[in-house]
Order: sequence, then structure tokens, then C-alpha cells
Amino acid sequence: TAAREVETRSEPVETADGREIEVAANLGTLAELEGAVEQGADGIGLFRTEFLFLDRESPPDEDEQYETYREALSAFPDGRVVVRTLDVGGDKPIPYLDLPESENPFLGERGIRRSLGPDRELFETQLRALLRAAAGEGRLAVMFPLVSTVEELEGALAAVERVAADLESEGVKHAIPELGVMVETPGAVFLAEELAARVDFLSIGTNDLAQYVMAAARDDERVADLHDPLHPPVLRAIARSVEAAHANDAWIGMCGEMAGDPDYTELLVGLGLDELSMSAVTIPAVKGRIVDCETDAADRVASRALDASTRNEITETIDQ
Ligand code: PEP
Ligand code: MG
Repeated sequence: TAAREVETRSEPVETADGREIEVAANLGTLAELEGAVEQGADGIGLFRTEFLFLDRESPPDEDEQYETYREALSAFPDGRVVVRTLDVGGDKPIPYLDLPESENPFLGERGIRRSLGPDRELFETQLRALLRAAAGEGRLAVMFPLVSTVEELEGALAAVERVAADLESEGVKHAIPELGVMVETPGAVFLAEELAARVDFLSIGTNDLAQYVMAAARDDERVADLHDPLHPPVLRAIARSVEAAHANDAWIGMCGEMAGDPDYTELLVGLGLDELSMSAVTIPAVKGRIVDCETDAADRVASRALDASTRNEITETIDQ
């Protein structure tokens, strides 16, 4: 069969019966910004700031970061730009940060754990740049990676407050952006109510969530079959997080690979996600699926998938 031309939609889309779903782009480098706009992204749902710190000998300073965040914001004057604070460790090493050797890097010091520990200074510099960037045009949001306790979130929020107080006393223009947490550990799933009550939004990282829920490394081919968000435990973790977010007046998105597969779009709409963020190339196809989607039908797909006991049953439900 001939490949179908997929229409690019530069405006936000809604389902056939009028539920708006934001479709945003994941950004791994600033060079991807243009492609995100071209493919019709409504905004940036995951700005992986690691790239700012890679391939160099020292970390970027506050002004350099500020300029980068401003550049992303000016590419999306009407859309939201969600910047994730530095997520190093695990599969994301940075030479000058002196990351510890670990037998189990994915279970070690990574993400927010480092930001509240050995990388605290870097974290505060990044927050200063972000709060300054938030004072300008555009809608900035900031989220924290790999949170698994309420204490970690409160530590991160306290750092935001401290940085805001410093900027205030220095007379530097700043604003508090929208704040959110990534749901990518089982701990965050079971605490989703408490986390959502403290922030504006949650964003599900299915790459790590599948790894930790299924105990299957994301970078090990031999367990690739287990590292699949269609396994019932992962799907139920997603559903639980969506419910918890909505019960606490938070919006919830998904920025793991799962969000960019058009075969899953109807299921994700049915599960209640408010935003999907993905590599830019998949945006036209996913937007195309959303406009064809009826929420009643999507709800039925989701509830059948959540009743299923095996991945096979879920796959069959989606294929039907
Ligand atoms: C995820 O874990 O799903 C995610 C979006 O973050 P990253 O892939 O950068 O770990
Ligand atoms: Mg992750």
C-alpha cells in the first residue's frame, strides 16, 4: 500500500466531538526547534536540558541558559514550553559532573536526586535562568525528573521559592512558571494525588516508567519485550496517575515514547491525557488520529484495555 500523505496541522486540534488535546514536541537539542514548529507542534512538552550540558568542559552559566530558554519561548508565542530541569545519571552521563560509578545507575543518584544533592548549585543556577525567562513573553513551565517522594518535590519547590526570593532582593525581573512533576517511578504513581496537589501538572515519562514498573532496563535488548508500556501494569499506572491528577485539579501529559505512536492515540485519549508530547516527526500523524477520534469510542477502548490481564489482549483491543 502506498504511504499516505499526512496533513500538517499548525493549529491545536480536538477530537471529532470537541475535546481539545495538546500535541507538543520533545526537544533534545535547540536545532530541533524549527522542525517542531514546522510539524505543527502546539508547544514544547519536554525540553531535555541535558543537551545544554553535553559536549563541553564546564556547565553553561545562567545567562547562556536564559538565552536558550528565551529562544524556545519565542518560537512558540502562543504555546506552552515545558522545560525539564537537568536529568543526569542513569543513561545520561556528563563528564565534568563526576558522576559516581554505580553497578545500577538507573537505581542510583539521578534526576532530582542529584539536583537536591551534589548538583544543588547547578540546579539553583538553572532555576534562576528559568525564573528570569518566565518573566518575559510566552508560557514557561518547569518540571522535575525522577521524583519518587513528596519530600523531593517539596525540596524542589523550596528551591524555587529560595531562588525567587534571591532574585527579588537583587531586583532582578522574574516570575514563577507553571510547575510540574514527571511521573516515571512507581513511587510517583502511588503518590500521584499528593504530588498533583502540590503542582500545576504531571507528565508521564513512559520510557522510565515502563523500566521501573516492569523491572526491565530501557537499554537492554534482551528484555525489550518486557519494556513495553502496553503491559497491563504500566497501563494501569498511567490510568491511576491521570485520575489522581484530575482529582487534584492538575492537568496531565505524557512525554515518553508511547505518546508519539499514532496506534496508541485513541487509547491515550480514552485514558484521559490532556497533552501528548513526542518527537516532532510524529506530530502530524498523531494530530490526524485525534481529529478522527470520538471520545466515547476512545473511553471504551481504554476501559477494555484496563480490564485486560495480558499485553496480547491489550494489543488486540487496540487493533480492533
Ligand atoms: C521518559 O522517561 O519517558 C522520559 C520522557 O524521559 P527520558 O526519556 O528523557 O528519560
Ligand atoms: Mg525519564
